[in-house]
Amino acid sequence: MKKGSTRRTFLKNTIQGGIAAGALSTIPNSLLANEFMQSTIFSQTPLPYAFNALEPLIDAMTMEIHYTKHASAYTKNLNDAAAAEFKGENISLENALANMSKYSAKLRNNGGGHYNHELFWKSMQAPGGAGMAEGSFKQAMMGSFSSMENFKTKLSDAAMTRFGSGWAWLYLDEKKTLQIGSTPNQDNPLMDVSPIKGMPLLGLDVWEHAYYLKYQNRRAEYVSNWFSLINWKNVEERFNSVR
Ligand code: MN
Repeated sequence: MKKGSTRRTFLKNTIQGGIAAGALSTIPNSLLANEFMQSTIFSQTPLPYAFNALEPLIDAMTMEIHYTKHASAYTKNLNDAAAAEFKGENISLENALANMSKYSAKLRNNGGGHYNHELFWKSMQAPGGAGMAEGSFKQAMMGSFSSMENFKTKLSDAAMTRFGSGWAWLYLDEKKTLQIGSTPNQDNPLMDVSPIKGMPLLGLDVWEHAYYLKYQNRRAEYVSNWFSLINWKNVEERFNSVR
């Protein structure tokens, strides 16, 4: 007996056991199959802080609209695209991003949108939080950028020279070297269609929806303030998990 059908039988029995006997005696296998496709059903992780936690540098209304409207739409549309294009196969988002040239613009825009925002929320913390700890990550940062001031200048340049909507990145390239770059729209360095390639460690959203209510056209001010919000512990953990 195949493993899948064992699990399916188990699940069927378990569901039946928990509900009035007989009521679910004939659950269609097509419905149960969804239980084995969890990795293709994407959801937003809860925001790890309140909408107003990043005040005064990012206002609560911007955070609420960004998380509950913009980002949630990417997640919903990713699920729609994945249902149509993964065809029931168990494909991770990372795998899809790495093979993005094979998929639609809808999957590219929304798969990137989901991935990038999930990273973005985790990459921030309330102003005045812990800075970068001493250790191998800080050494790698100094090795690549010489100083935090230079790192900030380079990431700011990437954010300011990204015309229109997009992201600025700190990422680990294929040689495991820390790099800075930017991508348009919701692309990221994991995508095979991206000219910069690697593992994103830290992403800065420079779409106007990320800052316009508070900063209007002043992207430079938003970018400058954002450096005070970086959750360096999270960035370091990502670095340690992939290098
Ligand atoms: Mn955004």
